[in-house]
Amino acid sequence: MIPNSIELRDIQEARERIASLVLKTPLHPSMSLSRRTGATVLYKLETTQPTRSFKVRGSGNVIAHLSPEQRECGMVTYSTGNHGKAASYIAAQLNSRMTVCISRIAPQNKVDGMVEYGGHPIVYGESQDEAMKYAISLVDERGYSLIDPINDPGTVCGHGTIGLEILEDIPDCDIILVPVSGGALISGIATAAKSINPQTRVIGISMEKGAAMYESLKAGRPVEVPEYKSLADSLQGGISLNNKYSFEIVKKLVDEILLVSEEEISTAISHAFFHDHIVLEGAGAVGIAALLSGKVESKRDDKIAIVCTGSNIDMDTFLTIVQKGKHP
Ligand SMILES: *Cc1c(COP(=O)(O)O)cnc(C)c1O
Repeated sequence: MIPNSIELRDIQEARERIASLVLKTPLHPSMSLSRRTGATVLYKLETTQPTRSFKVRGSGNVIAHLSPEQRECGMVTYSTGNHGKAASYIAAQLNSRMTVCISRIAPQNKVDGMVEYGGHPIVYGESQDEAMKYAISLVDERGYSLIDPINDPGTVCGHGTIGLEILEDIPDCDIILVPVSGGALISGIATAAKSINPQTRVIGISMEKGAAMYESLKAGRPVEVPEYKSLADSLQGGISLNNKYSFEIVKKLVDEILLVSEEEISTAISHAFFHDHIVLEGAGAVGIAALLSGKVESKRDDKIAIVCTGSNIDMDTFLTIVQKGKHP
C-alpha cells in the first residue's frame, strides 16, 4: 500500500538524525474547537520550532545526511520563505554556509530574514525561476550541494517525523489535518501515520485559488497553477512538473484535499489568537479554517490533530486581522 520509495524506517532514521537540531513539538488541546465539534482537537504546534515553522525538520534531515566534506564545500537553496530560513538556520547550527538565491523582486525584509538566521543571500535574476536556475548553476560551478525544497526524499522523511510524534502521543488518532503546497509535508506525515495506524485519516488543506496539488490530482498529473494573492502565502507555488515523490504518495495515501477561502483563513487566524493565544500565519491556520467551516466530516469523540505549520506572518497583516475583534 505504501509506495516503496519511502518507508517508515526512513522516517524513523530521520528522527534520530535531526533529534539534536529540532524540537519534539507539543500537542496543545484546543478547548474551543473541542467544545464546538464534540471531538478532542489538538494543535501540533510547529510554530515552536526554531525559525517558527516545521521546515527545519526536512532541511535538518537533508543537511545532516550530507558528509562533513559536502557541507564544507557549501550548500545552496532558492526559497525566500520558510524553507530558506530553515536551511539557513540548520547550516549555521552545523557551522557551514548556506547560500540562498533570491530574485530582485523579493522584498528586502525577505533578504534580511535569511541573514537573521545565518544564511548568505545572493540577489540574482528578475523572477524566482531565474533565481532557482542560478542556484542550480552554482552546484556545477562551485560544487555546492543543492537543498531542494520539493524533490528530495530526505525532505519528505524529515517532515514525516511529525507523523511519528502525533501517533506516538495519540496512537488512536482518527484524523490529521495538514496544510498542502508542494506536498512534501503531507506525504511524509501520511507515510508515517498510515504505516503505524492505517485507520488514521490524513486530510490535506489548501487555499481556494492556486492550489497546485489539488489541481494536479484533478488533472491526473503535475500541473502548473497561476499565483493569486493569499493569506496562506507559504502554500503558493507549484509541486514541480517533474515531481518525484509527493504527487504519487498523496495520490495513494491522502484521503482527501479540502479548500478554504481567504475569509475562512482570516477567521481561523483570529480564532487561534483569541481563543488559544497562538499566533499563526495563514498557511499554519488552514486546518483550523477547515474544521471551523464545517468542511471536515468528523464524529463526536474523534481525536483530531491539526498541524499548525508556522507563524511567520507579516505583523501588519496580523494586526489588521485581529483588530477586527474576537471571533465568536
Ligand atoms: C512549506 C509550508 C507548508 C507546505 O508544505 P509542503 O511540503 O510544501 O506541502 C505549509 N505551511 C507552512 C507554514 C509552510 O512553510
